[in-house]
Amino acid sequence: MAAAHVTGSLLASGVNTHERPSKVAGLSGVATIGEAQFKLLSLVGRKPELKGVVAAKLAALADELEMTLSLDTEKSDNNISPRGPLDHLPLTTTTTPGSGPSERKHEADSNPVDDLKKRFLDFKINYYLKQPQFVEPLKTGQSPKILFIACCDSRVTPEYITKARPGELFVLRNIANLVPPMEVAGKLHYGTSAAIEYAVLHLKVEHIIVNGHRACGGIQALMTQKRGGKTTDTGSKSFIGDWMDVARPAKTKTLEQCGHHDLQTQLRFCEKESVNNSLRNLLTFPWVKQAVDAKRLQLHGWYYDFVEGALSTWKPNTPGMELLT
Ligand SMILES: [Zn+2]
Repeated sequence: MAAAHVTGSLLASGVNTHERPSKVAGLSGVATIGEAQFKLLSLVGRKPELKGVVAAKLAALADELEMTLSLDTEKSDNNISPRGPLDHLPLTTTTTPGSGPSERKHEADSNPVDDLKKRFLDFKINYYLKQPQFVEPLKTGQSPKILFIACCDSRVTPEYITKARPGELFVLRNIANLVPPMEVAGKLHYGTSAAIEYAVLHLKVEHIIVNGHRACGGIQALMTQKRGGKTTDTGSKSFIGDWMDVARPAKTKTLEQCGHHDLQTQLRFCEKESVNNSLRNLLTFPWVKQAVDAKRLQLHGWYYDFVEGALSTWKPNTPGMELLT
């Protein structure tokens, strides 16, 4: 029950719950704060006229808990770090030995991991619990139709930019969204090849999208050799240079076709040509080529320009490019 969790958390932090009973005790039949939130939201959904009452009661509860924790902190002058279901709330007030109230910081407000925990609860409430028609089938397996190969770049988020639901995309991300050629000896890039094999032979995806993007750090390293050398700044082996060698044919073509242009023009060209290089490399895997020849599998080149908010799409060996802006 939520009341038990909250009480346990307050006890762990030294709060005297007998003197200041939590009003959460009124929410019976729920196991977590997320479920309590869901129960309240469902109630308000059925009876919108309760919005004001619910908001006022929640605000009063938050004020009471915050005041209780603050009073306890001032009394004990010890570190307080509640453990349990209150951790994700911005209630955690900490002190360091010898510091006074003015030095206290609300760490949860600035902690990006805590922020993700909060957003998980939002996902749980607004998707996982509300849309069982999409969630339930995934509990027994996955059957995505698309293998989506993207860069690790934090600005290129496949599910976010395509609004894909869990289960729709089998996602493979690596530096610069590269596909190496089929290799069985020498430089082995098994991580990427294994994911492609699983998607094609076991999941039997019907499409593979290789998604390049503007301002790719990997392509810049390839074209300028910055951070693309054989060693890191501290002298240890660098993996980036070897990995980006996969796209070296794209660099060669870029220099042939627009070596006389400025660097930015070369980078934009190489970012797209590297996608073509990866599409060609996909066909070096015999089971990819067989599936493509049998028309069970289609390959697609995509290029996401997050500066312009535009997406270009094309198919290998097919003239023309569709531009979505
Ligand atoms: Zn990139």
